[in-house]
Amino acid sequence: MEVDERTGMSVYSDTELDRTESEVIEALKKRSQQAIPDPDRWLEEELKRNILLTSVDAMLNWARRSSLWPVVCFPACCAFEFITTAASRFDISRFGMEIIRASPRQADLMITAGTLTWKMAPQVRRIYDQMPEPKWVIAMGACAISGGIFRSSYNVVPGYNRIVPVDVYVPGCPPRPEALLYGIRMLQHKISKASIGTEGREE
Ligand code: SF4
Repeated sequence: MEVDERTGMSVYSDTELDRTESEVIEALKKRSQQAIPDPDRWLEEELKRNILLTSVDAMLNWARRSSLWPVVCFPACCAFEFITTAASRFDISRFGMEIIRASPRQADLMITAGTLTWKMAPQVRRIYDQMPEPKWVIAMGACAISGGIFRSSYNVVPGYNRIVPVDVYVPGCPPRPEALLYGIRMLQHKISKASIGTEGREE
């Protein structure tokens, strides 16, 4: 290699260029003795790492239990414990259910928090009927389970299960937010065991 005095740039001779070129070719030849793996084989490895096989039931149940939307049905004092459960300390949104719906059309869970009178019972049943399937009910508190301390009153329904099918019972007067969260976890567990092949409930 010489340096051009006028421009100060390196000038390569033909021999040097040939030698450099042949070195590059030899290096490539050395690296290319094996065929590059078939792209399909590479794809197979990718698939193995990124695809999970599951069942339709597991997928649907995961989606359903992770996005329960409760409808408002809070006729008495247990409602305040539900409000606490929904607030930041207990944070019901951790379970995918922070959206409390005022319309039964957009809800799939009824949390019955409070005493139910016979006069209100037809409205509760109507709200339940207006909820789309699949839907679930949690009876929250002694009044919702059995009428509680008002059970022997002439106008109190002795349990929501006389009016709607109840999936989970959460005892207490009122139940603490931890108890309601435990009940919600139980309902999620119940949903995860369901199958679209045997859907539908008997009343
Ligand atoms: S269970 Fe107790 S706190 Fe809940 S609605 Fe009945 S009386 Fe009120």
